[in-house]
Amino acid sequence: MKCDVEYLPLSYLSQLGYCPRRVGLLLNERIWLESSDTAKGRKEHESVHTQRIERRGQELKLFEYPVVSNNLGVSGKCDLIEARGDPSGCRIPAVDFPVLLYPVEYKHGKLREEKEYKIQLCAQAMCLEEMYHTSIPEGALFYISSHRRQRVMLDEPLRRLVLETAKELRRIRETLMVPVAPYSEKCRRCSLLEYCMPTVGHSARAYCQKLAQEAKEVEMV
Ligand code: SF4
Repeated sequence: MKCDVEYLPLSYLSQLGYCPRRVGLLLNERIWLESSDTAKGRKEHESVHTQRIERRGQELKLFEYPVVSNNLGVSGKCDLIEARGDPSGCRIPAVDFPVLLYPVEYKHGKLREEKEYKIQLCAQAMCLEEMYHTSIPEGALFYISSHRRQRVMLDEPLRRLVLETAKELRRIRETLMVPVAPYSEKCRRCSLLEYCMPTVGHSARAYCQKLAQEAKEVEMV
C-alpha cells in the first residue's frame, strides 16, 4: 500500500459484517450516535482500554496495543495481547526475548456466535503477523458480562473472509457510498436507526436528507 493511502479503522471490518450501510454512515458521513448498547459497551471496555503492559516472569499482557497492516490497509488496537516467552516466537519491542502472541478481543454482553467479531480478531492477528513476521493460529473473544472466553481458530476460510471484507471496506471508502440495507432484526439495536431510516424508501430518504441539508444552510445564513 502506498504511504499516502488512508488506513481505515480495523474495527470497521466488524461493523461491515454487522451492516454495510452502518459502515457507510460511519465512514463516509461521519455519523456517530450513542445508544444504551454502545454506552454499555464503552463502559465495560473501560478497564481494558488503558494502554499498559503487565508482566509476570516470561508472561506478558499488553493492553490497547496498536496494530497496522499494509496488506489489509487498516490500523487499530488490540484490546489485549497475551505474550508468552518461547524460543520459536517473534521479537516485539516490549521485551528482549522471543514471544508467542495470542490476541484477545473483549466484547460486551453474553457469549454468542458473531462472525464479525471473529473477522475483527483475525484481522488483528494478521496485523501482528505482518508487523512481527510471525504466525498466530488462534485467538479468543472474551465476553465481559458472562466472563466467558471463546477460542477462535484463525484458519484459512476466516483469513479469506478478512481479506474480502477489507477489500469491500476500501471500496466503500473510495466510492464514498452508503449502501442500501433492508430493515432487519439488527436495526432495532442499531444506534444509527434514527438517522438511517431503514424503513423509508431510498428516494424518500434522499429527499428528507436534502431538506435537512437545506434547512441547515438556511440556519447558517
Ligand atoms: S438501522 Fe439497520 S440498516 Fe441502518 S445502519 Fe443500522 S443496522 Fe444498518
